[in-house]
Amino acid sequence: MNSAFSPQAYSDLLAALLARGYAVRDFATAQPDRADLILRHDVDVGPGYALPMAEAEAALGVSASYFVLTTSPLYNVGAADCRAALARLLQLGHRVDLHFDPAAYPADADRDAAAARECDWLQAITGQPVGMVSFHRPSPDLLNNPATLAGRPHAYQPRYFSAMGYCSDSRGGWHKGAPLQHAAVAAGTALQLLTHPIWWLGDGTPQAALERYLSDRIAGLDAALAANVTTHHPGRIAVTFKGEA
Ligand SMILES: [Zn+2]
Repeated sequence: MNSAFSPQAYSDLLAALLARGYAVRDFATAQPDRADLILRHDVDVGPGYALPMAEAEAALGVSASYFVLTTSPLYNVGAADCRAALARLLQLGHRVDLHFDPAAYPADADRDAAAARECDWLQAITGQPVGMVSFHRPSPDLLNNPATLAGRPHAYQPRYFSAMGYCSDSRGGWHKGAPLQHAAVAAGTALQLLTHPIWWLGDGTPQAALERYLSDRIAGLDAALAANVTTHHPGRIAVTFKGEA
């Protein structure tokens, strides 16, 4: 259960880390042996859902790195609603970097060239340089891999993934331990905290968050279809969810 995952809970978590002496830094300036905190968000299901966390961070005077996909089947960074969300992230003082999905390409594709094209596209949208990459669903060979991608560092390089503490909310829970119980926090050394905004809507279980997302998307697709195809009549689709077993 992740009923505690809400924007307020995230704000409380950050406040607790700051109270322990942590300073929020970006990937470029964080030092492994200091009480430095990197706030990373992998935006897997749409930048609009990142805004409550981004606002909570700004209210605490800290900034984060939001990694967005340009190859997602779930959202389009070129669409007006996504561009508006990215602009708001930047306006709040955050960074927008590339979340790269290797599975979007054939195994023999030139990954570096593909990532460079994605960085160019993302930079064209935001008007800001992309300085960092994170991998979406990285294969084991990418973990602790020191190689750069498109000339940029990535979040699973040894400096960020093993020299620093690493804590993630993957699948909507702290399955490998909560941040405040992390060994790096006990030692007062650097921590890379990865969160996925979809889990922090405050909707209860991860499944409830996904159902809200799916309802939102279907309503949005219905409206978009009506706006683009004159023969479509919106409001005729009803969505029901079967209860979890
Ligand atoms: Zn991802």
